[in-house]
Amino acid sequence: MAIPSNASLLDKYLRLSQGNKVQVEYIWIDNNTLRSKSRTLDYFVNRVEEIPEWYDDGQEKHDEIILRPVALYHDPFRPTRDKTNKLVLCDTYLPDGTPHPTNYRYHCHRIMNTYDHHAPWFGMEQEYLLIDPQKEKPLGWPQHGFPEPQGKYYCGVGADKIFGRDIVEAHYRACLYAGIRIGGANVEVCPSQFEFQVGPCPGITMGDELWMARYLLERVGETFGVGVTFHPKPVQGDWNGAGCHTNYSTKAMRQQDDGLATMEDAIERMSLRHFEHIAVYGEDNDLRLTGHHETGHIGAFSYGIANRGASIRIPRHVAKQGKGYMEDRRPASNVDPYRVTSIIVESSLSPIPSSLFH
Ligand code: ADP
Ligand code: MN
Ligand code: MN
Ligand code: MN
Repeated sequence: MAIPSNASLLDKYLRLSQGNKVQVEYIWIDNNTLRSKSRTLDYFVNRVEEIPEWYDDGQEKHDEIILRPVALYHDPFRPTRDKTNKLVLCDTYLPDGTPHPTNYRYHCHRIMNTYDHHAPWFGMEQEYLLIDPQKEKPLGWPQHGFPEPQGKYYCGVGADKIFGRDIVEAHYRACLYAGIRIGGANVEVCPSQFEFQVGPCPGITMGDELWMARYLLERVGETFGVGVTFHPKPVQGDWNGAGCHTNYSTKAMRQQDDGLATMEDAIERMSLRHFEHIAVYGEDNDLRLTGHHETGHIGAFSYGIANRGASIRIPRHVAKQGKGYMEDRRPASNVDPYRVTSIIVESSLSPIPSSLFH
């Protein structure tokens, strides 16, 4: 690793007794950025309802935000045998009780409740790049010039190809400990680029678990002194950008008889709202969706079976089986998963407004 870690020093203190106290880390999303702070409780907790509301006093913005606990996980950074310590994801509200303008979870939750009878599931593939904060370059890249061109890195092994696998491993286990449905991880196409998958997750839990997995990644990065960027085109040039492919299915799509037909109907509905989707599929996504580097061009909707250059792809094994899920390849790595899952469900399941027919 580029920078020596202090993890072994910290470990000594984490083995000290914490008495009968519980440490809870409150985590919230402030305008697409994660924040967190800790609090001691003097009782054990098992359910999110047992965690009191708190507030962010708005030091940097002059307005107080109410933090309302919505989902509970175990804290891998304060491990105990009984998993006593918790991470709690919070929704943000204004003091008058209305949802904070950037609280996209609130809207998403309403949509997921409305379409609950379709049982929407998601799986998101989070790509990211590790950054050496001292050099302000991707981890392991030479001080001057560039590493060897893409081709040998994807799913590669060996110290000449892989920079930062310790972080990937630590994060993977941290997610499992926390209770996040991490499905796997792989080394990506661009050097020091990686991916992890979360899912399948039903409804609102997709956004919750992806945000938590990102939180864990940033925290693991701190331990190793390595930064993370979710920018969709962190390096200009012949280097793959970073996406957050969103895999989606409903109950009907997962069933044998009408699976493929339901997917095709959903894709047609989604195609009518391509630019509305693009509007919530991440900042600077135009730098990534060029039609090259395994992307479909941002300016036109396309779809295909096994086509990695399309907006939406039906995986080959799904087409063969006639049921399963589809993959929306447009979302960028910096998306808010609540906004992505909301619009996919709305576009594919709501009645089509007549204004969309010409
Ligand atoms: P790719 O071939 O695009 O790299 P991955 O293996 O990285 O695919 O990711 C596939 C994703 O599809 C995983 O996140 C997984 O959770 C998700 N997935 C699998 N089955 C379903 C399903 N029925 N509905 C929604 N998502 C699913
Ligand atoms: Mn993948
Ligand atoms: Mn990928
Ligand atoms: Mn994919």
